[in-house]
Amino acid sequence: MQVLIADEYGFCFGVERAVEMVEEALQEGDTVRTLGPLIHNDQEMARLATHGVSMINAPVQIQRGQTAVIRAHGVTPQIEAELREKASKVVDATCPFVTKVQKLASRAAAQDRHVVIVGNPEHPEMIGVFGYAPEHSFIVSNAEEVAKLPRLKNPLVVSQTTIKLQNLYDVAEAVKANADGEVQVINTICSATRDRQDAARALAGEVDAFYVIGGRHSSNSRKLLAVCKEQCEKSFLIETEDEINAEDLCGAARVGLTAGASTPNWLIEKVGMRLEEIGEQLAVGN
Ligand code: SF4
Repeated sequence: MQVLIADEYGFCFGVERAVEMVEEALQEGDTVRTLGPLIHNDQEMARLATHGVSMINAPVQIQRGQTAVIRAHGVTPQIEAELREKASKVVDATCPFVTKVQKLASRAAAQDRHVVIVGNPEHPEMIGVFGYAPEHSFIVSNAEEVAKLPRLKNPLVVSQTTIKLQNLYDVAEAVKANADGEVQVINTICSATRDRQDAARALAGEVDAFYVIGGRHSSNSRKLLAVCKEQCEKSFLIETEDEINAEDLCGAARVGLTAGASTPNWLIEKVGMRLEEIGEQLAVGN
């Protein structure tokens, strides 16, 4: 049984960077507390917890002597200021792609322009970006919602880093129909999610079974599973190697493997090793 791994898989740039920054702080002997879960992966969070990393839900919970970590999604300037006031040190692991959106929104607001942000208003990344231009911004999920906005002045249109490109285009068109002055559209979508889906799609048509490693609550992992299922009926979402059922692999000559953007390499390696082991057992059984 051959195990094939998708061309793009696992940690995205922003998540990898955030985990590295936390590890550096640990090496410096800091007491590290992250504001919200650093990543959507229970196994990696548990590993970090064994090194003393704990989580807070609000800046009020941080104390002097502790290091506060801002995760890749970023936070509002107010939340950052509160953390800086209370913590001894702040590690800002906001993904640079998110920082770019925050800066664009802030600059447009300083020019007294409206900012239309396309995305999920409840997503932490969107809450953070909105905080950079609260008086000038509107968050919309889709083009229909633009009709409910007041007339827009020289608007800037940007987006959550993980939305679909067509959604941004549709909103941009709707904004043009409801704006005075120049409409500026900047594509701030990050390609990490799409790259992983494209690579999984390309491999899924060539294998007999497919494993997506990722948290059951991770939306990018669930989307990866859906993409794989389109091409390969025997596609499974697993969190650890213990969830692999050897019976599912009877008769499989090729097995595909990918992982969501929050899945660490050590977990992917364990799954790969378990699949190789099952492959050898099945070969002996035959
Ligand atoms: S998905 Fe993209 S924007 Fe989000 S953390 Fe990863 S690299 Fe950054």
